[in-house]
Amino acid sequence: MTLKIHHLNCGSMCPIGKRLINGHGGLFEPADMCCHCLLIESADGLVLVDTGLGSADVGNPAQLGRAFTMVTRPKLLLEETALHQVRALGFKPGDVRHIVLTHLDLDHAGGLPDFPDAQVHIFKPEHHAAMERPTLGEKARYRPVHFAHRPRWVLHETAGEHWNGFDSIRALPGSGDEILLVPLTGHTRGHCGVAVNADGADGAGWLMHCGDAYFYHDEVNPQQPYCTPGLRLFQNLVQIDGTQRRANQARLLQLARSHGGEVSLFCAHDPVELARYG
Ligand SMILES: [Zn+2]
Repeated sequence: MTLKIHHLNCGSMCPIGKRLINGHGGLFEPADMCCHCLLIESADGLVLVDTGLGSADVGNPAQLGRAFTMVTRPKLLLEETALHQVRALGFKPGDVRHIVLTHLDLDHAGGLPDFPDAQVHIFKPEHHAAMERPTLGEKARYRPVHFAHRPRWVLHETAGEHWNGFDSIRALPGSGDEILLVPLTGHTRGHCGVAVNADGADGAGWLMHCGDAYFYHDEVNPQQPYCTPGLRLFQNLVQIDGTQRRANQARLLQLARSHGGEVSLFCAHDPVELARYG
């Protein structure tokens, strides 16, 4: 069936340094960054891909940690939360049956407590990293308050399936809808892209939510790949494994080159990409 897919911004962030981040504007101007999430109307109820920041984060930003709020300067608007936008579209929070996450960083998982009844699909190594938080960096990036309601986790592992040369895992195996977790590790230990067979929606065969596997739209520009210096530095600072991250980013560029007509790629935080679906 053709899926109806909504592209949502579930958290604007405005770090200082627009020129170094967005590639234009002033050095000391606030940049534009979004949290690009998908709300999919599937045969099996609503499916949310990433959650952005949640209503409790908006009410109590301290729970996000000082480092995150000082660097990214989130707007923290209730109307940007997935919860608010689900309701604005005429649905109830309980209609969100599944949440498929690229990873569990706070700006992707913050909305989990707003949908306590949903099944939460995640690549097993990512779940392990967020629960164990073995390094100082992981203690800061994963916020236990986002998981304190004991989400209905569904942990996924690879089992020999492939999609366009990548390992892939069917997130909702019982359904006819093709929503795949595609491991793209490096940013975090279990980071994934989420590929959705849009079957004609949005004019694309497949949508590929690349999460934080890259940050700037031109990083997957087939002709002239480019990243702004601010985002290049940021990605290096927050990666758990640079070799894996760079290799997976190169594979995404290759995918854009070889299958750009069939697969529409976007990442989590680039407002230029979000605007393509507006
Ligand atoms: Zn992120």
